[in-house]
Amino acid sequence: MELKPSQIPSEVSRVTKTLEEAGYEAYVVGGCVRDLLLGRKPKDWDVTTNATPDDIQRLFEHTYYTNEFGTVGVVNDDAENEALKIVEVTPYRLEGSYSDARRPDNVTFSQNIEDDLKRRDFTINALAYNASQGRLIDLYDGVKDISSGVVRAVGDARLRFDEDALRILRAVRLSAQLGFEIEERTGKAITNAAPQLEKISEERIRDEFVRIIESDSPMQALITAKNLGILGYIIPELLDGVGVEQNQAHSYDVWEHNIRSAQHAADKKWPFTVRLAALLHDIGKPATRRRDNTKGDWTFHGHDVVGAKMTKKRLKELKFPKEIVDIVSTLVRWHMFFSDPDQVTLSAVRRIIVNVGREHIDELIQLRICDRIGTGRPKEQPFRLRKYQAMIDEALRDPITVGMLKLDGKGLMETTGEKPGPRLGWMLHALLEEVLDDPEKNTVEYLSGRSQEMAKLTDEELRPLGEAGKEKQAEVEEAEIKDIHKKHFVD
Ligand code: ATP
Ligand code: MG
Repeated sequence: MELKPSQIPSEVSRVTKTLEEAGYEAYVVGGCVRDLLLGRKPKDWDVTTNATPDDIQRLFEHTYYTNEFGTVGVVNDDAENEALKIVEVTPYRLEGSYSDARRPDNVTFSQNIEDDLKRRDFTINALAYNASQGRLIDLYDGVKDISSGVVRAVGDARLRFDEDALRILRAVRLSAQLGFEIEERTGKAITNAAPQLEKISEERIRDEFVRIIESDSPMQALITAKNLGILGYIIPELLDGVGVEQNQAHSYDVWEHNIRSAQHAADKKWPFTVRLAALLHDIGKPATRRRDNTKGDWTFHGHDVVGAKMTKKRLKELKFPKEIVDIVSTLVRWHMFFSDPDQVTLSAVRRIIVNVGREHIDELIQLRICDRIGTGRPKEQPFRLRKYQAMIDEALRDPITVGMLKLDGKGLMETTGEKPGPRLGWMLHALLEEVLDDPEKNTVEYLSGRSQEMAKLTDEELRPLGEAGKEKQAEVEEAEIKDIHKKHFVD
C-alpha cells in the first residue's frame, strides 16, 4: 500500500505547498489519507501543520475561522468538487485532560506532528502524508490495520474512550463504512466505556447512527453494536426483539428480522427513510405479542400502530428532523397494508396512498419487499407486488385530494355564495368522498349541483358529512380489509 503525491488533489497540495514555502511543516492527515490508501473517495480533506491559526490565516486569501480547536478553513473558491471547496487546516494539537467524556478541557498547539497523531482516535486515522517528500508517517501501524481491515484505538483504548465517548460510535460507524472488524481490546474498551454514551448529545449519536444506516453493512454494524453493549444507548427498543419468536411465516426472531430487513434495503441502495423504516417496522411486536390458541401460533395485532408510536418517540428523541420522523413513522404505521392484488380494491389502494402520501408510496412498497425478504421465508411473490404497483399507478391517476376536484374552493364559493370558513372545507371533503367512490362524479356540473344542495344544510348537518362521513367510510373499508386479513390468515 503506497501513496503517490499525484493522488493529492491540486487544491490540497496548493495548501501544503504554501505552508511549506513559508517555512512551516504541512501534512495531509487523518481520514482522507486512510481513504486514499483504500481507494475510496475522501469525504473531506484535512491538513495539519506547525503554523498557528494566525499564521495560517495570513497565508491564504480566503479563510474562515470559527472553531475553538484552532481549525482554519481554507476556501478554494474555484474547486468544482464539493469536498475540495474547503480544506481544513489545523495546527498540531496536544489535548489536555478530558472531564466530560467529550471535549478536552483545553487544547494547546504543538511543534511536533507526533503529538498530533497521538491524540487521534484510531490507527487507521493516525496517518500523515507529506506530499512534497512523498513520505507517509505511520507511527501506529495504521497501514497494517488498513490492509487487514481492523479498527484499533491509538494508545490505551480504555483511556481513549473515556476521554471521548463519541469515539465509540465512530468505531462502529467506520467499521460499517469500511467493512472492518473492531480489534478485540478496542472492543472490550468500548463495552467498558459504553455508559459514557449518556453524556453524548443526541444529535451526535444520531449523526453517527445515520452513517451506520447509510453504509453498505448496517446489519453487521447493529450486531456489533449489540454485542458491544452500546445498542441500548442508540435504539434500546431493538433489544426488546431479541429472542422474541414469531409466527410460522418467519425464520428469525423479531430483532434479526428487523436487521435483515434493513440490510436488504441497504443491499438495494434504497433511500435512508426505507432503511430506517425497515429497521424499525416491527419494533411494536414485543409489546403486542399474544398467543392465539386456536391457531396455535403467535399474533401481533396492533404492532403497526404501536410500532409507529414508538418510532416517532425514538426518532424525536434522537432529534431527527420532523420530515424524517413523520415519513418513517408513517411507513411503519402502514407497513401491514393489504396487498393481495386479487382481493384488494382500488379504493383501498387509494386509501393507502392518502395515508402515506403519494410521494412516499414507492418507499412503502420497498419497505414491504424488505419485510418479505427479512422473514427468511419469503412467501409473497414479486409478481404480486408488481401487480399491486400497477394498481397504485392506476389509483394515482384518480383524485385523492380536494385540490383535484374539478370544482375548487373559489368555484365552490361562486356556485353556493358561501363565505370562506369551515363550511367550505366540509363541503369539499364531502365532495371528495363521493368522487373517491366514483371518479365519474368529478365534473363541474355534478359537483356544483351537489354543493348547492349542501349549501342549504346547517352547520350541524354539514359537519358530519364532511368529517364523520369520511371516517365512516374509512371504518367500513378497514373492517372489510380486516375480514379479508382474517380469511387469509394475514397478520
Ligand atoms: P469521514 O470524513 O469519512 O467522516 P474521518 O475519519 O475523516 O471520516 P473526520 O470527522 O473527518 O472523520 O475527522 C478527521 C480526522 O480527525 C479523523 O480521521 C481522526 O484522525 C481525527 N478525529 C476525528 N474525530 C476524532 C475524535 N473524536 N477523537 C480523536 N480523533 C478524531
Ligand atoms: Mg474526514
